[in-house]
Amino acid sequence: SASNKVVLYWHRTDLRLHDSPALHAALALNPSVFIPIWTWDPHYVYRSRVGPNRWRFLLECQSDLSHSYSQLNSKQKLWVVREAPLTVLPKLWKQWDITHLVFEKDTDSYARDRDDAVLRLAHEAGVEVIVKMGRNLFDPDELVRKNGGKPTMSISQVEKAAGQINHAQPDQPWDTPKSIPHPWEQDKMDLGSMEHEIAEPTPDLNSNHRIAKDTQYSLIMGPKNDFAVPTMEEIGIDSSLAISPHRGGESVALTMLSNYIQDDEYIGTFEKPKTSPAAFEPQSTTLLSPHLHFGTLSVRKFWWDVQGDLNKRKQEKKPNATIPTNLLGQLLFRDMYFAAQAAVGEPFSRTYGNKAVRFIDWHLQSEPQQGADNVLPARAYEIDSAEAEEWFQRWKTGRTGFPWIDALMRQLKQEGWIHHLGRHSVACFLTRGGCYVSWERGAEVFEELLIDHETACNVGNWMWLSCTAFFSQFYRCYSPVAFGKKWDPSGEFVRRYVPELARFDKKFIYEPWKAPIADQKKWGCRVTNDDSAGDGQVYPKPMFDFDERRQVCMDRMKNAYDVGLHGADEQVLNGSWRQL
Ligand code: FAD
Repeated sequence: SASNKVVLYWHRTDLRLHDSPALHAALALNPSVFIPIWTWDPHYVYRSRVGPNRWRFLLECQSDLSHSYSQLNSKQKLWVVREAPLTVLPKLWKQWDITHLVFEKDTDSYARDRDDAVLRLAHEAGVEVIVKMGRNLFDPDELVRKNGGKPTMSISQVEKAAGQINHAQPDQPWDTPKSIPHPWEQDKMDLGSMEHEIAEPTPDLNSNHRIAKDTQYSLIMGPKNDFAVPTMEEIGIDSSLAISPHRGGESVALTMLSNYIQDDEYIGTFEKPKTSPAAFEPQSTTLLSPHLHFGTLSVRKFWWDVQGDLNKRKQEKKPNATIPTNLLGQLLFRDMYFAAQAAVGEPFSRTYGNKAVRFIDWHLQSEPQQGADNVLPARAYEIDSAEAEEWFQRWKTGRTGFPWIDALMRQLKQEGWIHHLGRHSVACFLTRGGCYVSWERGAEVFEELLIDHETACNVGNWMWLSCTAFFSQFYRCYSPVAFGKKWDPSGEFVRRYVPELARFDKKFIYEPWKAPIADQKKWGCRVTNDDSAGDGQVYPKPMFDFDERRQVCMDRMKNAYDVGLHGADEQVLNGSWRQL
């Protein structure tokens, strides 16, 4: 029989029912009333950069989860509460007589502060809180502890630290927690708890704390007050701008994973550096990253399902790729960045005050965040090149005149996802391999456009590509011409995303400015910076001489490395680096 526990389950980074340690713990309380909610966090809604594709993906994840709850119990759904957590949670506890609050641990720096505040409020209100790790293979804080309190800056550090968390296995130096059974698949966990009718929640929505409607996304209160998942229109976003073909939701994620797992040849031979960044429909990697971001897929299930294929192939004496290039290695990279972020805390997402990152004298530094608590001294962040600002804008909008870069940036804008090596290409080009613009500016664009945007992974990878942390071989630079050509000699990828060039001969597809004018005319597109040229389409000339820029960047990187400043050094904090 059910207890008299009234459990509020707060979905945040875990929009799923399967393999969720936190949800499992909530249902193990055998609640008489169980209420799964989502609350709109003003930090996400107003402070983060979220483009239309990611908005729609999130709403799809919510709808799918809500539907799954309803299928289990027709009176259930995901109750979407349109108010900020810190103000609405205490009201809900009171109005619904909540005894327990349960959620998944989140080590993002903002989330930590928010959750600490929630814990304090819950303590005052006499509500018991249960927090469980489920977002990573290893608890980032634990990895950091085992790494001597330091950020994890390499896969070997992750492997070593992880080895101390779990017991060694004969064929594997370390182990990750096994996925847990689906809570409703266990006999003892019957659905009794879900069958109790819960009263229609009626929180006081007239409070002053309701987020004002006059901000960018007029989100919070839906017109019907029905706690339903909002539509794009309700949150004030033109749904015609959300054109990504990639769909959200736990059911989509599980189907995708199971299709990959059925193909043990794909899983066993997957080696990241051998997957093509130019492949589309289908792409060459799993595209499960947005599902890991929203928690519609459990990372541990991903890990163990892959492991299952690898074990099977081993028994069949078939060769398997290994860590770090195989899929397990990819998941470890994800944990590496989470733990690095957990160790550094809030400064991890910028240079200023970040002890883990090198300081480089980019042409364009990041601007101070207006309205943020941490307004940065303008001195250290002033923009010193109008030309670099122009390059940045052209990079962002896919008009650099380098078709490989432009195709990738347009794919990113349209679809919200690009292949890892595509991200390498455009990130190297913007920073140390072309424009010499701060990685922070690039990371902001990715934050807005990626459907898989994950702060730790995004800024961590930007640091890697800009050779400011994790990786330091700045003399190894991606060519915006040769790299694409190597993967896709006939330029199918460019033709798809830069349709102006679709008819160009493959000889010129990566360097269209070299095509004779007569051919440009014949192929229906002039390569010129004059938008009004000709009757047909135009595509810009390259915005600079790449070889020249590569040399400038390398010289300046070498100098910056010789100077050897880091983001938390005094000269960076007080702006005196300019005199160096
Ligand atoms: P797969 O190759 O199929 O890998 C499986 C999973 O492993 C991914 O879904 C992802 O969760 C994880 N993974 C793989 N590579 C990495 C990596 N290098 N770092 C961290 N996790 C990894 N990934 C994000 O999830 N969010 C981001 O915001 C993000 N920003 C990036 C920015 C830059 C500049 C670069 C170079 C990489 C970034 N990545 C980010 C990492 C990586 O590119 C993506 O995770 C990957 O391309 C997603 O595609 P996939 O799911 O097909 O990956």
